[in-house]
Amino acid sequence: MAPPVRVAALGGLGEIGMNCMAVECDGRIAVVDCGLLFPDEPIGADVVVPDLAWLRERASRVGAVFLTHGHEDHIGALPLLLRDLKAPVYAPRFALELVRRRLGEAGIEADLREVRPGDVRRAGEDSPLSAEFLAVTHSIPDACGLALGTPQGILLHSGDFKIDEAPVDGRPMDLARVEALGRQGVRLLLSDSTNADKAGRSLSESAVAAGLEAAFEGARGRVFVACFASNVHRLQQIADAARGFGRRVALLGRSMEENVRLSLALGYLSFPPWQLCSLAEVRAAPPAESCVLVSGTQGEPRSALARLARGEHPELAVAPGDRVVFSARLIPGNERALHQVMNDLARAGAELLHDREPPLHASGHAQEEEQRRLIRLARPAAFLPIHGEYRHLARHAAHAAAEGVEARLVAVDGDAVELGDGGLARILRGAVPVGRVYADRDSLGQGIAEVVVRDRRLLAEAGLVLCVLAVDRGTGAVVRGPELFAVGVAGFEGAAAGVQAEALAALAAMTGPSRGDPAEVEEALRAAVRRWFRREGLRRPSVLPVVLEL
Ligand SMILES: [Zn+2]
Repeated sequence: MAPPVRVAALGGLGEIGMNCMAVECDGRIAVVDCGLLFPDEPIGADVVVPDLAWLRERASRVGAVFLTHGHEDHIGALPLLLRDLKAPVYAPRFALELVRRRLGEAGIEADLREVRPGDVRRAGEDSPLSAEFLAVTHSIPDACGLALGTPQGILLHSGDFKIDEAPVDGRPMDLARVEALGRQGVRLLLSDSTNADKAGRSLSESAVAAGLEAAFEGARGRVFVACFASNVHRLQQIADAARGFGRRVALLGRSMEENVRLSLALGYLSFPPWQLCSLAEVRAAPPAESCVLVSGTQGEPRSALARLARGEHPELAVAPGDRVVFSARLIPGNERALHQVMNDLARAGAELLHDREPPLHASGHAQEEEQRRLIRLARPAAFLPIHGEYRHLARHAAHAAAEGVEARLVAVDGDAVELGDGGLARILRGAVPVGRVYADRDSLGQGIAEVVVRDRRLLAEAGLVLCVLAVDRGTGAVVRGPELFAVGVAGFEGAAAGVQAEALAALAAMTGPSRGDPAEVEEALRAAVRRWFRREGLRRPSVLPVVLEL
């Protein structure tokens, strides 16, 4: 009898982002990825991270953290995890360097260990769990999938992947290894669902070269290219295209600066020495001789691109005749923010290039044909779609059904998949407590409670009315007020007298003993104010009653 294996989804199942899983067997745990997600609403928090309490309580049982690649939605919450958990972190080189920098900024020491494709690492001494790293293609260097060795057989985790037949760095996905594992027997395939609803196959990254070249054609001013700073292969292709037009390359934005310097130092990027230049050199050179790589493809208001668009960047400004090329996917939810940036750029006289033929962007995620090819090669007994909203997971499960996989499991955050002797696999619904913690980038540990976020949403919805009443400490009689102050409340102008009368009537209706209880008086005030707004057919604001006993 082999001990059962449980795969617990702590994030990334039922949403795109904050990917994190725990594989558990015989009291030992291995963590796969630990990412964050960027909120798509302005609620005063930069990031959302998974609630890691469940893992933290089991910290001594975690033997290893395995990272598939260096995207924020796979590594961004690591500083939070590694504050209380001292297991070694195994990651491919590029991811490891990004993690090293992130942990350094957070002042966290960790045992970081580099791995290469083909390496097998045990999740702690005597652990029944191990991981073999295998090369996959994706929109960041060094991406890996994992073949997790367990007493219940091999769990093949795709990481984020696409099957790129012509990768820019010449490092293809190791499909031969997947096929070999498939012949050995894969117990469970966990596969990236992001593009499950897109038919056909993804465009090869190298196919973007033609679009990028066309984007420089005929440009007489400066060319700004917005792209993800971690998409190093894209950066390489942009630099190559720029070079063909005699343009030097400068960097705008902190993440762009950091990623390019790191990639150059590690050899992931190569420019001829003359090509990289400073912003001062861009200012001094004729506009037709520079290309500026800029971060902020999602319209993030504090990004370099947004500041450039608003004319608030201290180093550079957009001038009429300049061109801004968008070489990235717009993540749904960010449309408004990005369109604002585009409007600002257009107002400054820039020509905008996006969504055109030949394409300026290729997705880093497999589409249906590639997903099905992976399933055919791995021939898993059971299938668990990961990394996606519910609709993506359901669609991916349908692809697996079409490929004849008998057991398809659609699980969401908080569910666990159990693999035991006999039977294929089953889902334990709500097996692990999960949640979202809103936080600021530089203070991940000081999460903003969900109730605070809810209050912020309510305030945005209908504003706040502050209702201040002074009463006699002995008799409870009204001494003064209620006085009303409104913030962001529509229809409040000229309404104060009406609201006040409603509140006074509610107080008058209160009987003796409740009259003396400030908590009850506050509740009566709150109800009265909200009642007035409801009766007037207006949105009901949040109400903050304050009772002062004099
Ligand atoms: Zn990724």
